[in-house]
Order: sequence, then structure tokens, then C-alpha cells
Amino acid sequence: MTLDISITRSDHPRSDAELAEILANPGFGMHFTDHMFTVEWTPEKGWHDARITPYAPLTLDPATAVLHYAQETFEGMKAYRHADGSVWTFRPEQNAQRMVRSSHRLAFPVLEPEDFVQAVDALVEVDQRWVPDNSGTGGEKSLYVRPFMIASEVFLGVRPAQHVTFMVIASPAGAYFKGGIKPLSLWLTTEYTRAGRGGMGAAKTGGNYASSLVAQQEAIEHGCDQVVFLDAQEGRYVEELGGMNMYFVHADGRVVTPETGTILEGITRSAIIELAQKAGHTVEERKFSVDEWRGGVASGEITEVFACGTAAVVTPVGKLMWPDGEVGSNQGEGGPLTLQLRKQLVDIQFGRSEDVFGWMHRVV
Ligand SMILES: *Cc1c(COP(=O)(O)O)cnc(C)c1O
Repeated sequence: MTLDISITRSDHPRSDAELAEILANPGFGMHFTDHMFTVEWTPEKGWHDARITPYAPLTLDPATAVLHYAQETFEGMKAYRHADGSVWTFRPEQNAQRMVRSSHRLAFPVLEPEDFVQAVDALVEVDQRWVPDNSGTGGEKSLYVRPFMIASEVFLGVRPAQHVTFMVIASPAGAYFKGGIKPLSLWLTTEYTRAGRGGMGAAKTGGNYASSLVAQQEAIEHGCDQVVFLDAQEGRYVEELGGMNMYFVHADGRVVTPETGTILEGITRSAIIELAQKAGHTVEERKFSVDEWRGGVASGEITEVFACGTAAVVTPVGKLMWPDGEVGSNQGEGGPLTLQLRKQLVDIQFGRSEDVFGWMHRVV
């Protein structure tokens, strides 16, 4: 079913001057657009009351279920302005379908993928002046879009919520790397895991992030940028970073990425697989042990390591550290395949090269 969206425009949108100042240096997740999208669900009415309203704080009863039991799922995607002024999103139906999968795991009702895409399109269209213009700069500024679903029922009993709210908010985002691409240093946590068999590692849910924070803190204490998680069962196989999937490029051109199941299946991850295959690389999705990583980097069999996700696109990985050792170095700007895949993806997203895969979706 398609949503019937009512639109109430803000009577105090940011002025052009204020907006220009924000878009000059947006940072990440700090400034929010003039509007937000909301739709609600109850068993009796299904999804109803779809609306775009001025961006404003929510008023929540302290007994709202999400605050207690974390029944929540979210998505992350970007809107890109092309040189001709048009605005596009990247494979939004993939985000929509992933939210359906997350919703099943979190015992939420399903929001149909077409309704999800319609909601995102509607908000991006209303707030289109917030999509940064990179023309002439070769920049990578975009509008980050955050759809999310929460248990909004006021009830402290433990059960799937009988009142659910889906919202979309948006926030302009600057280039992830200021002043050139810099490789990440990673901390291998041997104490914490992010997902177990049958757990919710494959769902995009806030709880996975809550459980990653202390491990991320440990990474920072050891002077690293990000934490790497291993599988919970054997503590041997590489899973992913807190919010990015991983790739290992071999000297013979093979590219290995951890198989799915307990990792979050990134949309960037799947795009990288297709781009690498198109460039003639064999891509293996399989278990990949941390010993294979350490040994491969030390022997030179692994020539490049990188991480990917919507926020940072593709990020080279320099050094891996663990409690009594390290391998790799943080020199340089990333290997040739890392940079090639990154450029190919960014060029498609910003309309600087032909979208041969049909990934882009026009909004405005
Ligand atoms: C969102 C996310 C990713 C990256 O997914 P993309 O669709 O590429 O942005 C990777 N890992 C985790 C845990 C995530 O939440």
C-alpha cells in the first residue's frame, strides 16, 4: 500500500545564510533538517497517520517500551546532489528490504519497502535544499538519512510493542576524511563480541551499537581508531568493525570478505563485491581467521585491507593491534584496489560516472 502523507511545512526553516554556514562544514550527525517524517502502527489500524512535520523533539512517556527494552531498528543511507542539481539516493530498496529483515528479528510489523522508499523520498524532497552541492569542488558532502523504528507503546510488560513509530530524519554530512584519506588502525578485542549464533548481529539495531561501545573505548585507550570483533563461538574468525564490513585483498588478486550470518550485511559491502568482480577479481565470502590476516600481512600475501560502510564509503586499514602484538603499518593512503573501488563507488554516487549497475534512484 502506498502512504498518504500529509505535509506541514515549518514556519521557521533555517535561513539561507544559516544553512550555507552549516553546509560549509556539516560534520556528521550534528545538524538536522527542517522537517521529519513519522508514521505509526497499531494492530487495529496498521500503518497510519503518515506525515511530514517541522523537526521537533518527541514527547515520550517515561514508560515507553523502547526506552526499557531497546526494541528498535534503524537504517543509514545518503542523498547525493549531482552536478545538474538533481538529487539521488543509492539502492534505497536495499535499505528498505534490510529494514524488513531487521524488523522480523526485532518482532516489529513490516513496513513495505515501497512505503519506506516513499517516506525517504518525501522527506528528502521537502528538505532538498539541505542536500549539499559539491559542484566544482570534487567534494563528497551528502545528506545522511536516518530512518528508524521504535516500540512506542507505553507499557512495561515484555512483549512486541502494540504501538510502533517509524520516522525519518536527515542530517548533512561532510567528507569522512578531512585532508586526505588516512588508514585506520584497528584494535582486536579478545574480550568482547558483538554477535552470537541466533543473536541479532545481522539486524541493524541500536543494541548492537550499545554493546560495541566498551570495546570501542578499549580500542581508543590503545591508541586505535576502531575495534575489530571476532566470532563469539571460537574467537578465531573476523566478523566486522563496530559499523563497517571488512575486505582482504590478496597478492594474486583474490578478495576475501567474511561470510554473512552474524555480521551486518552492508549495502556498500555488496556493491564492493559487484565492483570487484566486474574488475576481474575473484571474491570469496567465507570464514576468515585472524591468524590468516596476521600471517598474510606478515608474509605479503595480503596486500590491502579495507573496511566499508555508508558513512566512510571505503576506508583503508593500516595497522592491526592486539594485546601483545601488531601487524601492518599506518603509512600511505591505501592500496591501489582500495582506492580504485572507492573512487568507482563515489563517482557513481555523485553522478560523475555512468551508473551501469542501475544503483541510483532519482528523488528530485
Ligand atoms: C550499517 C552497518 C554496516 C554498513 O552497512 P552499509 O549498508 O554499507 O552502510 C556495517 N556494519 C554494521 C554493524 C552496521 O550497522
